[in-house]
Amino acid sequence: MGQDRNHPTIAAPVRAVSSPLGLYIHIPFCEKKCFYCDFYSIENHSQRNEFVAALISEISLACVSGRKQVVDTIFLGGGTPSLLTPTEVETIIDAIHRHFDVAANLEFTIECNPGTVDTKYLYDYRGLGINRISFGVQSFFDDELVFLSRIHNSQEAITAVGEARSAGFDNINIDLMYALPSQTTERLLSNLETGTKLGPTHLSAYALIVEPGTPLFSAVSKGDVKPSEEDTEAAMYETVMNFMAGKGYDHYEISNYSLPGFQCRHNLKYWDVGNYIGFGPSAHSHLDDQRWWNISSLNGYLAHLGNNELPISSMEILSPSQKHDEFIFLSLRQGKLDLRVLKARFGMTLEKDFLSGMMEAGYCTTADDTLILTAKGFTVCDEIAGEIIGLRSVSV
Ligand code: SF4
Repeated sequence: MGQDRNHPTIAAPVRAVSSPLGLYIHIPFCEKKCFYCDFYSIENHSQRNEFVAALISEISLACVSGRKQVVDTIFLGGGTPSLLTPTEVETIIDAIHRHFDVAANLEFTIECNPGTVDTKYLYDYRGLGINRISFGVQSFFDDELVFLSRIHNSQEAITAVGEARSAGFDNINIDLMYALPSQTTERLLSNLETGTKLGPTHLSAYALIVEPGTPLFSAVSKGDVKPSEEDTEAAMYETVMNFMAGKGYDHYEISNYSLPGFQCRHNLKYWDVGNYIGFGPSAHSHLDDQRWWNISSLNGYLAHLGNNELPISSMEILSPSQKHDEFIFLSLRQGKLDLRVLKARFGMTLEKDFLSGMMEAGYCTTADDTLILTAKGFTVCDEIAGEIIGLRSVSV
């Protein structure tokens, strides 16, 4: 276990905390790697049984001490969790129930690649208590899906969403991507129109990011793919925001939109720096002031658990300045910054001149001691966060 030397080793990370936990389970298999993706997953499923057995061991090793903690969100992500059979999912759920108290109002999400949908699986997943499904659709144009090296076409995605609804899922998310090379605004609008017509409760729209280490990164470096210009991406982002507002979706995080009452409670735990435990290769965890993450290798993961060791790669205790910076960054990505909390927790006050400058530039408004980003502010959200974080030395 390669922990930070300055920080204490924890034999069993799950311990008593005051708020219910979220559980994230990382399923490290995909039918085929998408060429833009930098999440940890592998195409070879041959160690799948070993993985499920190791996952059960990990849950049990992490929970050896103390009483059962309450869990009110579970997220099966990856990778492609919809590759798992209902029996495999049931095995994982049984282990969770053995080690945690599962809340009655559980939000239980499974991520699903439309190219791996099995209709019977959808009914069975629903029957196992999974009540939210998230489809990686990305686009409704087949040539864009080919460019992204997705394994499904547009019609398969539309059919998958309908099948999920028939199977009893009424809380459905659709992921879309924009700012693909040469994508037009008309195509973006068409994707949004088709996506919202399917009646999802939640829609996530992400700009295509060229992540280092991906085949897309190599293609861009060689000049084979020309990424979207920054201005085009910003204009498309504003198009998404305006469109989703027009359809009645609340823009509650920089890339996420929900109908009222359908925010993703699990992801809010990440964005509110809440408590969550991740299991599986590369999964991250956070409890109070401590954060740790697992190794990003299935073989390493299996080897650690084969030796009855938690597969933790590293851990850290969050410093006061990390907590301050994350509070500002993550608050603004949710479109707001509570100035009372900023003062009470971090002793930081934003000068009136700074706030009026931001308002005059059209980046924010203020109400009830809270800075609220406008659509224009959202387009430069991270820059605003950086600027406010930079003020710390003079304002604290
Ligand atoms: S299906 Fe999802 S996790 Fe798998 S490679 Fe594609 S984007 Fe990545």
